[in-house]
Formats: sequence, C-alpha cells, structure tokens
Amino acid sequence: MSIFVTRSSMPSYEDYIKEIKPIFENHHLTNMGPVYKKLQHSLIDYLGVRYFSMFVNGHLALETVIQAMGLKEKGGEVITTPFTFVSTVHAITRNGLKPVFCDIRPDDYTIDPEKIEALITEKTVAIVPVHVYGAICDVEKIEEIAKKHGLKVIYDAAHAFGVKYKGNGIGNYGDASMFSFHATKVFNTIEGGAVSFSDESLRESMHNLKNFGIKSEDCVDEIGGNAKMDEFRAAMGICNLRNIDECIASRGRAAARYDERLGGVKGIKLMKAQKDVTPNYAYYAVCFDPDEFGKSRDDVYEELKKADIFARKYFYPAINEMDCYKNDNPEETPVAAEISRRILTLPLYSDLTTEDVDKICDVILK
Ligand SMILES: *Cc1c(COP(=O)(O)O)cnc(C)c1O
Repeated sequence: MSIFVTRSSMPSYEDYIKEIKPIFENHHLTNMGPVYKKLQHSLIDYLGVRYFSMFVNGHLALETVIQAMGLKEKGGEVITTPFTFVSTVHAITRNGLKPVFCDIRPDDYTIDPEKIEALITEKTVAIVPVHVYGAICDVEKIEEIAKKHGLKVIYDAAHAFGVKYKGNGIGNYGDASMFSFHATKVFNTIEGGAVSFSDESLRESMHNLKNFGIKSEDCVDEIGGNAKMDEFRAAMGICNLRNIDECIASRGRAAARYDERLGGVKGIKLMKAQKDVTPNYAYYAVCFDPDEFGKSRDDVYEELKKADIFARKYFYPAINEMDCYKNDNPEETPVAAEISRRILTLPLYSDLTTEDVDKICDVILK
C-alpha cells in the first residue's frame, strides 16, 4: 500500500453526523452560525488566545489580517522568509506590499533575527515570520526589533497549531498569528483557518472583512472579500478537536521512532527539540548533506517513490526562486537556497504505524 506524506485526520462517521444534524433542522448553513460560534469558543480555549476570527482557509485569514491592520494603505515593504509555503508571500503581495526576503537560521529554518535589521528601510511596515514545521521563531528577539522600529509582526503559524512557548499558546506572540486548518494540517476543518490577534480594535474589521466589508444592513464601509467558514466545516473542526491530543501524541510517537532510526546517521540532520517549547509534531523534516550521506535529497526522494512512499520536497524551490518572485535576489538568502535543495519532509500523520516508519527508514538507510 502507498504511503503518502500526510493523511487527513477524520472523526468517525457517526460523530460527524451527530454534529451536523442540527444544521438540517435550523437551515443555518453559514455566516457565523451556532456551530461556528461553538468551535470558536473551543479553539480560543484550546489555543489559549484572546481574540480569534475563523476563515474559509488560512491564506485568506492572513490576507485579511494584513488588510485589517491598514498595511495596504501604508504601502511599502514587508520582511519575510523565502523558506515557506508560497501562500505567505502571496498574502503580502496581493495586499499591494513588497516582500523583502530575509535569510533563515540553519538549525531550525526560521527567519534569522540577526539579519532582519539590515533589511529595514523607511518603507518597512511589518515582519511576517513563519513557525516552520511547527518550530517556533525567536519570538522574543523579533518583538524587540519590531518595537524598536515600530513594525507590526504577523506570524504565519499555519504549522504551529497547539504549540506552546513557556506554557503560553503560540498565538499570543506578535500582533497576530494565522493558523491553517487545511486537510493536511495537524488540526483540520477540511479547509479552514483563523487569526488570533492582540488588538481588540481589529475585531470588528476582521469580522466584517470576511463578509464583503458589510458593517450593517445599510452600511458597507470597507472593501472586503468573502472568506467565511461555513457550519459544516466548523462541525468537522468540533469533531477533530475532540481527538487532537491523541492525534498529536501519536504523531509524537512516530517522530520518536524516526529519531531512533535516523539519529546519528552521517550526513542526515534532524530537527532538534526547542527549549521551552511544547511541540505539535506537524512535520518530520530531514536535511541531507550529499557529500557526507553519499546520496542527494533528490536521490532519496526517488528511491522512496520506487518503494511507493511519497515524501515531499517541502519547501522547494525557495520562494525567491519561483517564477513569480524570481527577481527578488535569491543570492541574498544562501541558507534558504541550500536548505531548500537538501530538505525532505517524510510521511507523518496520526495513524502512521511504527512498521510504516521502519519501512521508510529502511529505504533511506539502504
Ligand atoms: C498551509 C499553509 C498556508 C495556507 O493555509 P491554507 O489553509 O491552505 O490556505 C500558509 N502558510 C503555510 C506555511 C502553510 O503551510
């Protein structure tokens, strides 16, 4: 049987049916109905965050919070990372802002805070760092830089659902954090996403902007889009949230097995546990040094494929090497360029068995 890089977590059929039954009675399908509200309360509680707005997907959640902060009106530049999913940079660009790429740290692949300040100009309005693979950015250093220069910080926390730093939900850092609830993520609502934010004054705007900017029956005062999460997706979220702790724990067991098998192998670099961080085991990323390992990342990817195992070159290419961002200086982010050529994310999901992990490791080590 094929092993794919991810397999969506799903509740039992009966669980889901029970959750959507009331929708067939009240005919309230979307527009922030009772199921939406129920999920919203549960997630605020689970993530330990303050203000929270849910969306049809993570991408539009990020685009919308950038708009709500008025950054679009300010124009200018946003410092971000080239080592991310393309959504992060599209959300900046589609707001009429210019992404400025900052290199990453070679150990945890997050934005390198030592390199941010050199990129700040009088046009810079914000920093958009990414908690890559659930590994958190240096939130303290980033806050210090942002404060000093008067910049907004919006985290792409798409990978960081449930992650805590010093016991504090990761969504509490920066001015806002975007979570993705896409089918492939640690927690899913089929498609879905949300933003947590610290400024209460954004609340109304976030609510209205995902519904065309409609403020009241007779008043539209902002140019919004349509990005509401519907009741059926919210119901999926309620069901999946019931199993989330188990789901993260079993991801953790699979990750531990990978560590056991691949740790200490020459030419293979694994992600290290971060200090004071409660992890979510969102991804298992392995970095291959072709000189030491004897095979390149692409060789390993192909060998796995022959064995019906589908790993993913994630993130490759780096964003500033993609056709639509190509002129934006990849040579200025050498670490990201190199890591994107060496990194492979291995299959990881909650029902991945020890036997599956062993089968994958056998192919890699062969
Ligand atoms: C998944 C993802 C997104 C986009 O989220 P969607 O819910 O798929 O729209 C953005 N950034 C990163 C890093 C992601 O992995």
